[in-house]
Amino acid sequence: MASLLCRRLTVLSAALLIAGFAPYQDLTTNEASLVNHISTDSLKEHLTYIASDALEGRGSPSKGLDMAADYIAAHFKKCGLEPLGDDGYFQTTEITRRGVTGKVRNVIGVLRGSDPKLKDTYIIVTAHYDHLGKKLSGEGDLIYNGANDDGSGTVSVMELADAFAHAAEKPKRSIIFMTFWGEELGLRGSRYYGQHPVVPVTNTIADINLEQIGRTDDTEGPRVKEASMTGFDYTDIGTIFAAAGKKIGIAVTKHPQFSDAFFARSDNQAMAFLGVPSCTLCTAYEYPDYHRVGDEVDKIDFGNMAQIDKMVALGVWEMANSAQVPKWDESNPKTARYVTAWHASHP
Ligand SMILES: [Zn+2]
Repeated sequence: MASLLCRRLTVLSAALLIAGFAPYQDLTTNEASLVNHISTDSLKEHLTYIASDALEGRGSPSKGLDMAADYIAAHFKKCGLEPLGDDGYFQTTEITRRGVTGKVRNVIGVLRGSDPKLKDTYIIVTAHYDHLGKKLSGEGDLIYNGANDDGSGTVSVMELADAFAHAAEKPKRSIIFMTFWGEELGLRGSRYYGQHPVVPVTNTIADINLEQIGRTDDTEGPRVKEASMTGFDYTDIGTIFAAAGKKIGIAVTKHPQFSDAFFARSDNQAMAFLGVPSCTLCTAYEYPDYHRVGDEVDKIDFGNMAQIDKMVALGVWEMANSAQVPKWDESNPKTARYVTAWHASHP
């Protein structure tokens, strides 16, 4: 078995060298097929649309938000994901904001796992596709494009869906790809999902949330080939992704202040409140155009972002095939309420 695998990998490495990819020595054939499917070109193509002025900053609710949701759903369909919403890929509700009532939609698709038993368990890969919309008056640029926040996470979820759908092997567990509305209004889309989960919470083993993974110009200094995880040591997801990152040259780290401080500041928290082990991965927590109109697509480091996505693919693949499930660290007092929620959903 080993020698056959080695030969396959040698052939694959040679093919990849010819194709201009750096081969990764420690990857299995399927891991290599996963990571090599992730491309800077398609990330750029998707983000150029999602963060374009035409979508007017994707406020919740708005026409631009709807356009983004339609685009993501069309992509999920093209990948062959099974729709998991109440209206195709859409989990639909309505909100009123500033006197305007409109529909808002989480976009949800699933890639069914291959193992007869494990396929009824789920890993969720998430990002928020909404942003701040546009300024109602003023001069110059009025549109909050949100290329990094969180266009980068959104297109990464799309690209990961594509990679998993086209990999040589299907994962044993099922993987749900989901993008949320309303994060910028206070995690409203993910909280709505938390109140209306589409698969049993008991069988949802983890949520990997992606935020701000396109910018490397961190306010603290350049952040290249590194991803930071919130709640790094709240669960054992940190260890799993650190190992995945090693295979591809990405350091997955715990920021000394922000790892814990930012845990409650993105959509992973709605999942944590259900007891689901969760985290958010980002490159820069703080960067010059954060929540400003200058958060534009031309400031994204697509090469680095693709590497981050490859690390995410390897970590998700590991969790999707392991007999083990991620667990909260019950000895950490900061996990207490999430541990309580986990026990409530696992009587
Ligand atoms: Zn965000």
